[in-house]
Amino acid sequence: RAKELGRNNYQLYNPQMAAPTVQSLSLMSDLRKALDKGEFVVYYQPQIRVPTGELIGVEALLRWNHPTRGMISPAQFIPLAEETGLIIPIGEWVLRTACAQVKAWAEDGYPEMRVAVNLSARQFMRDDLVDVVERALRDTGLKPHLLDLEITESMTMHNVDRAIQILHGLKNLGVMISLDDFGTGYSSLSYLKHFPIHMLKIDQSFVRDITVDPDDAAIANSIIALAHALNLKVIAEGVETEEQLGYLLEQGCQEMQGYLFSPPLPVDRLENLIRFVEKQEEERA
Ligand code: C2E
Ligand code: MG
Ligand code: MG
Ligand code: MG
Repeated sequence: RAKELGRNNYQLYNPQMAAPTVQSLSLMSDLRKALDKGEFVVYYQPQIRVPTGELIGVEALLRWNHPTRGMISPAQFIPLAEETGLIIPIGEWVLRTACAQVKAWAEDGYPEMRVAVNLSARQFMRDDLVDVVERALRDTGLKPHLLDLEITESMTMHNVDRAIQILHGLKNLGVMISLDDFGTGYSSLSYLKHFPIHMLKIDQSFVRDITVDPDDAAIANSIIALAHALNLKVIAEGVETEEQLGYLLEQGCQEMQGYLFSPPLPVDRLENLIRFVEKQEEERA
């Protein structure tokens, strides 16, 4: 199993995984039933093209509404879901829910937007991934170019040839592929040119102190330059302040995601936000 998860997978080094506590064991048994009991909810966080203020897409972020513990963050249960293999049905549910939602928004007359869905290491390495994605697109009727699959560098590293093969399979479906948390993994830059990806996501750990820490600024600048040089799009995650926004824009990063614009929201609240922004624009015009 360790090999399957990938040697660089951070979950292997998660100290909480080493010795399951009573708490994590009971969480695990709850997790097995959560999908059937309808306890998962997908939240959506806007991705903005800053110069125009245009909503270009949303990232689907899973939430678990636990009957007694309340909302549990994915940082707590995704590692458990990976460990148990439950991530396979849960991940497929997120994918299908997100595709269906964005298709429904298009039909309801909302502006066209893409949806980013996070893939886990286990999902990525399974032989049926391309089929699962193809079926989700076919069943929901979502246009492939509106689906953006997020993978991380570490997921690709333990078998690069296989990763390239999978990525080409996905690319042939017409979907977008983004490298999430870019800069935090162990990727060799030389592989990047062989990956048929579309976008680098600058990890929020570099954005946080971008205006005060010259090292973080240097790393972020390098990622932006790398993206431009390789003809990839680039988006910054975790943008919380006007200062960070200003700095990123100056460096040529125009797409952003973060609390400055909006936290991840449930469907009805995202719809309210879109309508509110549209109304403001009408009033201004
Ligand atoms: P991620 O894919 O890198 O998602 C970005 C995380 O940053 C999200 O945390 C989001 O809520 C948070 N975030 C967004 N804007 C800001 C900001 O301005 N400041 C700060 N401090 N944080 C911000 P979240 O929703 O708790 O998700 C954590 C991680 O769990 C995700 O990181 C992703 O790796 C994983 N995850 C979430 N949903 C799924 C899923 O459906 N499948 C899989 N495999 N993993 C998921
Ligand atoms: Mg992500
Ligand atoms: Mg990220
Ligand atoms: Mg992450």
